[in-house]
Amino acid sequence: MAQSPEPAGSGRQPANAPPKKPDPIAPMRSLRFWIALAVLFAANILISNLFFSAAQPATVTISYNSFLDQVNAGNVTSITSTGESITGFTKKAVSDSSGASSTKFQTQRPAFATDDLETLLQQHKVVINAKDPTAAAPLWETLLFSFGPTILLVLGFLYLSRRAAAGGAGGILGSFGQSRARLYNAERPSVTFDDVAGIDEVKADLQEVVDFLREPQKYQRLGGTMPKGVLLIGAPGTGKTLLARAVAGEAKVPFFSIAASEFIEAIVGVGASRVRDLFAKARAAAPSIIFIDELDAVGRSRSAALRIGGNDEQEQTLNQILTEMDGFDSREGVIVLAATNRADVLDPALLRPGRFDRRITVQPPDRRGRAAILRIHTRNVLLGPDANLDQVAAQTPGLVGADLRNLVNEAALGAARKNEPAVTMADFSEAIERTLLGAERKIMLSDLDRERIAYHESGHALLGLLVPGADPVKKVTIVPRGQALGVTLQSPIDDRFNYGEDYLRARMIGALGGRAAEKLIYGVVTTGAENDLMQVTRIAQQMVVRWGMSPKVGPLNYGDNDGSSFQQRPYGEGTANLIDDEVRRISEECLVAAEKGLGEHRSQLDALARALLKNDSLDENQILSVTGITRQESAAARPAGAELAGTRPIS
Ligand code: ADP
Ligand code: MG
Ligand code: ZN
Repeated sequence: MAQSPEPAGSGRQPANAPPKKPDPIAPMRSLRFWIALAVLFAANILISNLFFSAAQPATVTISYNSFLDQVNAGNVTSITSTGESITGFTKKAVSDSSGASSTKFQTQRPAFATDDLETLLQQHKVVINAKDPTAAAPLWETLLFSFGPTILLVLGFLYLSRRAAAGGAGGILGSFGQSRARLYNAERPSVTFDDVAGIDEVKADLQEVVDFLREPQKYQRLGGTMPKGVLLIGAPGTGKTLLARAVAGEAKVPFFSIAASEFIEAIVGVGASRVRDLFAKARAAAPSIIFIDELDAVGRSRSAALRIGGNDEQEQTLNQILTEMDGFDSREGVIVLAATNRADVLDPALLRPGRFDRRITVQPPDRRGRAAILRIHTRNVLLGPDANLDQVAAQTPGLVGADLRNLVNEAALGAARKNEPAVTMADFSEAIERTLLGAERKIMLSDLDRERIAYHESGHALLGLLVPGADPVKKVTIVPRGQALGVTLQSPIDDRFNYGEDYLRARMIGALGGRAAEKLIYGVVTTGAENDLMQVTRIAQQMVVRWGMSPKVGPLNYGDNDGSSFQQRPYGEGTANLIDDEVRRISEECLVAAEKGLGEHRSQLDALARALLKNDSLDENQILSVTGITRQESAAARPAGAELAGTRPIS
C-alpha cells in the first residue's frame, strides 16, 4: 500500500529541476534523460496500482456461513451483489480463515441456497446494491485503466524531449555549441599590472596592447595596425593567465576567456561552433580581449607524430580559430591573447603573420623578481620583524610565481598552526623545505636500511662539496620526504641561465654519488638510485644530441626528443648507435669519477654518514664542519637549458 500517492510529473523528476546551464556532455544528458524516464515509469506503476486499489481497505474472503453470522450479529452495513457473488462492508473488521481482517469482505452464495437472504438483510438494515453480472465496466474506466499508464508515459516522453530541445541538445546536435555560449559572459578582471611582478619586460611589451585597447581611435587614425594575436609563452606558473587578465584589467575592457582544452569534446563540431560564438561575442563587445589558455591543446602541429584518426575535433577547432583570426581586423578593437607552455609544438599556421605573430616569452623570475612577487603575495600577510623576503627570494632559485604564492601560503598556515602572532623567518624556512623537498613521511626503516640511506645521501653530499663547479649543498637528510627515503638539497649561488660542460658533469657525478657510495661500502647496488640514474641519463642524452658536447657526434642539435615516440628520428642508424655509445661513455666516466672521489675521501664519507645517522638532518654549516671542507666558490662557465635551473633535491 503506497502512503502518498504521487501524481505523475511531480517535482521528483530530475527533469523538473529548474533549468540550469545545459549539460556540456552528451552522455550525461542522456543519462539524466533515462533517469527521468525511469522515474516516470515507476510513477506510472504506482498510479495504476492506486487506481485499482482505490484507497480502499483490503478485502477478506469469508465463508457464506460466517457472512450470515455477521448479518445476524448486525455487523454488516452494506452489500453489493453481482450474480451470486457478494461483496460488502462491516462495522467491525471481520477475519478470514487465515487471520487477515478487514471491514471489507467478499463471499459467494451457493447456487443451492434456499434461505431468504433478502428478508434477513432487510431485517438487519443492510443496504443492498446490485450489479448486472454481465455488465462491463464503463468505457472511460476501461480506457483509463488500460491506456492511462501508456498515455502518461507518452506525455512524459514528449515533455522531456521538448525540454531537451529547448536546452539545446535536442535529438539534434546542431544547437549544442550555441548553448555553451552562456559560458562566455565577459568578465571584467580587477587585477592590474600592479599584481604582476618580476616580469617587467613582459609588462612593457603588453603596455602597448593596453594603450591600444584604451584608445583604439588613436591607432586607427595613424593607419597602423595592431597585431591581432599575442602569444604568451612560458613555463607553468610563471603568470601567463594572470598577465592576460591584468591586460584586460588595465585597459578596462571585457575579457572573454576559454581554455583550449575545453574545446576538446566528444562531439565533432562543438569546438568550432564555440570558437565562432566566442569571437562573435567578443566582437560585439569591442574593444575587448579574447584569451585562449592552453593553446597547445588544440594548436599542436598537425603534422607532428603519427595521427591515427580521432583528432578531427582538434583540427576543426584549430581551423576555426585560424578562420576567425583571419576574418577580423584588429582595428575593430579585439585582441586575441593566448598562452602556452610549449611554443615548439604549435602548428606553424598559428604563427603566421596576421595571427599570433607577436610572441612574448615569460621567463621564470630572477632573484629580484622573486622578491617582488613575494611582496605582492604578502600584502595581506602579517609579517614578523625578522621575516626577510629578499632572503627568501635568495633561497628559492627556480621557483615561479605560482610556487612563491604557495610558499607564502604554507608559511602563513604554519604560523597559524603554531599560534604565532605573525609569520616569521622560521616559518618561511620550513615552507621552503616543504615546497622543495615534499612533506615528511613516517615510515619504519631497519637500522641497516637507515645506514645504507645515510651512506647514499652522504655520497651525494660529499661529491657536491668536492667536485669543482657543483652547486653548494644546503641540506642533507635521511628523514623520508615525499617519494624519497633521503634527500640532498643543492642550491645554486645565483640564478643561472647558461651551463658549462664541467657543471653538467659535476651534476652527474653528484647524482651518481649515491650509487657509488653504496658500491664502495657494501659492494652491492640497490634500487635506491633509480631517480638519480634518470637524471644522469637525461643530462647525458642532451649533452650529446642537443648541446653538441660529444666530439664523436659533433656540434649538432637533433632537437629535444621528449619521448613522444612516433616522431621520426632526424638521423640514421649509425648515428643512433653512436649517440647511445656516447651517452653511455659520458655516464660511465661520471660514475668512475664519483667512485674515485669517494674512495679518496672515505673518512669524510664515514663521518658524514655517522653524523646523519645521529642527527637525521644536517644543514650546510654542519655538513662543512663534519667533513672539514671549506667551500670554494664555484666558477662554472655558462653555455643553455632552463630546466637545469634552480634549487633541486636529489634523493
Ligand atoms: P600560468 O598561467 O603561467 O600557468 P598563472 O597566471 O596561472 O600561471 O599563475 C598562477 C598564480 O601564481 C597567479 O594567479 C598568481 O597568484 C601567481 N603568480 C604567477 N606569476 C606571478 C607574477 N609574476 N607576479 C605575481 N603573482 C604571480
Ligand atoms: Mg595559466
Ligand atoms: Zn640518490
